[in-house]
Amino acid sequence: MVAPTALFAIDTLLTDEEREIRNTVRRVCDREIRPHVAAWFEAGELPARELARTLGSVGVLGMHLDGYGCAGMGAVSYGLACLELEAADSGLRSLVSVQGSLAMYAIWKYGSEEQKQEWLPAMAAGKRIGCFGLTEPDFGSDPAGMRTTAKREGGDWVLNGTKMWITNGSVSDVAVVWARTDEGIRGFLVPAGTPGFTANDVKHKISLRASVTSELVLEGVRLPDEAMLPDARGLSGPLGCLNEARFGIVFGAMGAALDCLETAIAYAGDREVFARPLASFQLTQEKLADMALELGKGLLLAVHLGRLKEAGTITPEQVSAGKLNNVREALEIARKCRTLLGASGITLEYPVIRHAVNLESVLTYEGTSEIHSLVLGKALTGISAFH
Ligand SMILES: Cc1cc2nc3c(=O)[nH]c(=O)nc-3n(C[C@H](O)[C@H](O)[C@H](O)COP(=O)(O)OP(=O)(O)OC[C@H]3O[C@@H](n4cnc5c(N)ncnc54)[C@H](O)[C@@H]3O)c2cc1C
Repeated sequence: MVAPTALFAIDTLLTDEEREIRNTVRRVCDREIRPHVAAWFEAGELPARELARTLGSVGVLGMHLDGYGCAGMGAVSYGLACLELEAADSGLRSLVSVQGSLAMYAIWKYGSEEQKQEWLPAMAAGKRIGCFGLTEPDFGSDPAGMRTTAKREGGDWVLNGTKMWITNGSVSDVAVVWARTDEGIRGFLVPAGTPGFTANDVKHKISLRASVTSELVLEGVRLPDEAMLPDARGLSGPLGCLNEARFGIVFGAMGAALDCLETAIAYAGDREVFARPLASFQLTQEKLADMALELGKGLLLAVHLGRLKEAGTITPEQVSAGKLNNVREALEIARKCRTLLGASGITLEYPVIRHAVNLESVLTYEGTSEIHSLVLGKALTGISAFH
């Protein structure tokens, strides 16, 4: 038997260091996450603070950033860490993506030296958690319409508005909040506990249950001038962060798919139907072959995009292509694996249905599949069909 990744000799594309990082993250997931994640999912709870410290201790938080306690790893290493985390659960990868690629990246890229010193080392260590507030109740795919405002009052800024669907929201020590000002969209660091700032968890989720999702309410939140991110001007600020997080999803989604496929192959080998192993039927083998092909293609695309990112030549359209393809195919793989598990496929005893419902969120956040199709359509035709 050949493992799905071995079929494509993916390891030959990786350096020794990259394989070692992947193996380390896999070991942490096997020890700290896999034994508990189905129960967290079922309960709709996540020990986020504890997990952040564990993940910080192995250096995955902001691992692709340089300095300030961050590991300064290459894009492929970061991607492989995302893959292993999402093979455990998309919620865990979401925690790490939002911490490292959205909150920390925003501070690292656009923050003042004081902001970097204050937040980044503690966030890299997992002692402090961050969130990223861009989406609003009425503006998701079109963040340019945001209603949250920041107005000057003397030397201060006063923020009002509501952010919605914010990962890590209620467990964060700092929220990166994007708001409309007289000089366009700007980013602000809002520490937890600032008067007027509250975070309320979204309940009754059926997807990403092992992840904290919150509404952020800002009612007359007064911040000093130094709370503004000095180097982010306009929507390109938050969009730059989203591009970083999307890159991690290109790898991450393939992790969820791989976990589903490995589970289905093992199940089909054990399960007997009509007095023979399920794996011995041609219909089963066709499903497995098709899924292995999409997984292999997705992994090759991920590593290729990683190398482009390391060379500094990757474009936002290429990241969109990777996010659109790999999440869409991962979801298809999860659904097909679910069919192979029959009724067992609908229980949390196996990870497959959990990955499938998680991937529904992944399909929507960080740009929906429709939005990424429009990005590619514009690139191919030169015509924008967004409006
Ligand atoms: C679990 C979870 C965690 C999240 N975490 C965060 C976070 O940490 N921070 C944050 O800021 N946001 C977060 N989000 C929000 C996420 O980014 C948005 O949900 C996403 O951008 C889509 O916005 P929306 O839900 O408002 O959908 P809408 O924008 O209302 O879209 C509804 C539908 O319309 C389609 N559509 C939109 N525009 C067009 C168009 N021009 N042409 C054709 N179809 C179109 C969309 O593709 C979608 O199918 C999270 C979401 C979820 C589910």
